[in-house]
Amino acid sequence: MSDLYARHRAVIPQWVATNYSEPIEIVSGKGCHVTDGQGNSYLDFFAGILTNMLGYDVAEVREAVERQIASGVYHTSTLYLIRSQVELAEKIAAISGIPDAKVFFTNSGSEANEAALAAALSARKANQVLAMRNSYHGRTFGTVAVTGNASWKASSNDPFGTHYLHGTDRQLPAYRDLSDAAYIDACVEDLRALLTAAVHPADVGALIAEPIQGVGGFTMAPDGLFSAYKEVLDSHGILFISDEVQTGWGRTGETFWGIQAHGVTPDFMTFAKGLANGFAIGGVVGRGDLLDGIRGNGISTFGGNPIATTAANATLDYVLSHDLRRNAAACGDIVISGLKGAANDLAIVADVRGKGLMFAVDLADPATGKPSPALAARAMEETKARGLLVGKGGLYGATLRMAPPLTLSEAEAREGLALLLDALRAVDARAAA
Ligand code: PMP
Repeated sequence: MSDLYARHRAVIPQWVATNYSEPIEIVSGKGCHVTDGQGNSYLDFFAGILTNMLGYDVAEVREAVERQIASGVYHTSTLYLIRSQVELAEKIAAISGIPDAKVFFTNSGSEANEAALAAALSARKANQVLAMRNSYHGRTFGTVAVTGNASWKASSNDPFGTHYLHGTDRQLPAYRDLSDAAYIDACVEDLRALLTAAVHPADVGALIAEPIQGVGGFTMAPDGLFSAYKEVLDSHGILFISDEVQTGWGRTGETFWGIQAHGVTPDFMTFAKGLANGFAIGGVVGRGDLLDGIRGNGISTFGGNPIATTAANATLDYVLSHDLRRNAAACGDIVISGLKGAANDLAIVADVRGKGLMFAVDLADPATGKPSPALAARAMEETKARGLLVGKGGLYGATLRMAPPLTLSEAEAREGLALLLDALRAVDARAAA
């Protein structure tokens, strides 16, 4: 065990998980590559959990932040006007597609979801929430309650009443063999039944859902499910919160916001992670009347501070001016089609899925067909040994999930695919032996 890892274990809670039997320290980065404390370099296919959205050492972001730092002002609080915050809110409101949108900035995705839930529940004078099975929405009190993935639920305390919908549990025997349309029908009928049998629609504030479940292993409902759900929700006035913390900013390649794949304009979208390319930021964009409606005074001391919003303006401008959504689609295609093409020859690969630069591989024990966290752990080590950083997730911890910077080049997409396949072949050969 390295000295730093031993010190980490001594003072950081044990539930703060690290990757690899010997965790690495990333000490420098450029573009889509990083170097660890031992001098090993890696192609980064996880980007600090989708957060280094443009990669490392991006001049446009660095120079903008350096200019802000040189002004001497890192923080003022929202008691004073913050030009970079107003500019960022204007841009996000405009690209949200939400009519008369306003934006409230926070420091994290968890806080963003808390703010959206607070606005929805107070607008509806409600205390019940709908969420999806296998979801992850954060580690604060309310967001743990709407998280539907038991391995990430630190407690079962619930400040609302949370009701979990089907729609992302297609692996269950009752749903496995249904067509997309039949599955959507079954899920919508279940929602209707829930609102008839178990919870009064007038008590329900909102449905909160990730368009593609991040921590859940990039699992996703068939396109169209959320518009079908929304018809039912609209008939009762129940609001819809799209958690875009992982799916926003063009990452899925096909649309700018993940939820647009369903043809839905939500009442709120929450965001965090990549927006400031590594500086801490989160927020909620939503209908102005609803966000205005939260009772009392409100503040987030650091939320939307000059440094984070300056970095975010530079990052968002870069994403838009370089059309990184299109790049995500092109590079994602290379990796996803390459993985799908190779999957047949890999007994350990149970499924390959993804959209744009958000793709995943499920690993299963070839003998039993059951999800295998052990094989996923081995694949993590094998990719690391080959100089590729990937992530892990899924309900069973048996999913490799990858989300490189949106600036990935096609050559890097091919390089990463080759490293990944080489690693998977090594794990596959050992599993067969
Ligand atoms: N929502 C989603 C979809 C997430 O993936 C995450 C973080 N993994 C969060 C919310 C919480 O964000 P944070 O860790 O910044 O609080």
